[in-house]
Amino acid sequence: MGKAEKGSAKYIANRIKAKGLQKLRWYCQMCQKQCRDENGFKCHTMSESHQRQLLLFADNASKYIDDFSKEFQDGYMELLKRQYGTKRVNANKVYQDYIGNREHIHMNATQWETLTDFVKWLGREGKCIVDETEKGWFYQRSSPRVKKTRVREKTRAREKTRARDRRRRERARLVKIITKSLGDKFFKRKAVIERVIDKYGAQL
Ligand SMILES: [Zn+2]
Repeated sequence: MGKAEKGSAKYIANRIKAKGLQKLRWYCQMCQKQCRDENGFKCHTMSESHQRQLLLFADNASKYIDDFSKEFQDGYMELLKRQYGTKRVNANKVYQDYIGNREHIHMNATQWETLTDFVKWLGREGKCIVDETEKGWFYQRSSPRVKKTRVREKTRAREKTRARDRRRRERARLVKIITKSLGDKFFKRKAVIERVIDKYGAQL
């Protein structure tokens, strides 16, 4: 690993590695301090050293956040590319892989509040094709080939819907014709028929 500029995200990542810190949730990226639990983290954020760091940080906050965000995103996309290519994959699974790396940038130091924010951002930026399911967010790294496939899938789905609508309309028309001789009351009724019984009736 090359010599990183002091204070840069890379520098901090290197220091984290040097310290051999474990991946844990209660980590202050700004102070590079690992706390044991929520309470410890709270205590830390009230500490004088953190407050002092915060003042220093405030002058350069947006630059720090930009750096961390960029670093986070680069590492993330690199992992996605290496592990999954352009396969569609559960966002949370990749995130678990990502934070499994001791050197990772903690999300609370980036511009994104949650993984969902980050995933949506990837979608908006066109870096991934994202979709939400009952099992959470999924994404797929973008490539010209992936985009083409997606367009084809969408076209196919649209054609399917159109064909279904057409069939429904035809069946509805059939009801109209069948009930015509039963008078206006039924004539005005439109429905999808399941089964034609005879000239005047149908199961709706
Ligand atoms: Zn701190």
